[in-house]
Amino acid sequence: MDKFQQWLINSSEDFQFILFFGLLFLLIALEYIIAFRKVKRGKRWLTNFVMTLISIFAMMAMPVSFITAARYASDKKFGLLNSIPLNWFALLLFSLLLRGFISFFTHYLAHKIPLIWRVHRVHHLDTEMDVSTNVRFHPFEFIFNTLIGIPIILILGLPVWTLMLYELLDVTVTLISHSNISLPKRIENVLRYILVTPDLHRIHHSSYQPETDTNFGAVFPIWDIVFRTFKTNTKTEPKEMQLGLEEVRDEKVNNILWLLLSPFKNFKKNDENN
Ligand SMILES: [Zn+2]
Repeated sequence: MDKFQQWLINSSEDFQFILFFGLLFLLIALEYIIAFRKVKRGKRWLTNFVMTLISIFAMMAMPVSFITAARYASDKKFGLLNSIPLNWFALLLFSLLLRGFISFFTHYLAHKIPLIWRVHRVHHLDTEMDVSTNVRFHPFEFIFNTLIGIPIILILGLPVWTLMLYELLDVTVTLISHSNISLPKRIENVLRYILVTPDLHRIHHSSYQPETDTNFGAVFPIWDIVFRTFKTNTKTEPKEMQLGLEEVRDEKVNNILWLLLSPFKNFKKNDENN
């Protein structure tokens, strides 16, 4: 186990890069072969990938991250898991579950706090969903997530190597869960209680708000199950249901400048003047 921990600390960032692009190309190919719904790519794809590049620059500009916070807590022997002796398995289990909780909690807040929603809604304004949606975020979103997550990382004392393992799981699961595919029903019906699946996450992208405000988990659905925000059925057929937000349905949602400025805009349902 020590060797695996060391590998994660030394090499997981390079591996994460390979994993991301390998899986991205594999899922793009799968979306062409076994697409679940009809999607338009074109300008939408350009927008989603340019938003990713902008977010990567925003992340690089941030002087702190979850990893630097975890290193600090570990050096100072600070935080819950740094203070109680646990074997590697218990440490791994608690740490992954707690890291999953941070993700669930920040995502829940992004839907419930109007100021953060203005930023997070860039992700939801995509009127379609495929693997490119996974990387469509406003750059401010990383700032909110980092500011909310760091104090929790410090208090919980999550070990660096478990955070790195979580990132690898996050890349894998979120790319798959946003992709325009559907897993075979027999796998889906079991897997969705352990990991977030495409059928489960598509419900979160429904424009019908009682569905949008469900399935907040990114990797593990357990916190949605615990807090009763877990949803497996939809009002409309998954192949037909409207994705995105009711508020804006036109081409603006693929305009990069409009998206970057959208947190400062007010829009009401079916508002034509935004
Ligand atoms: Zn969301």
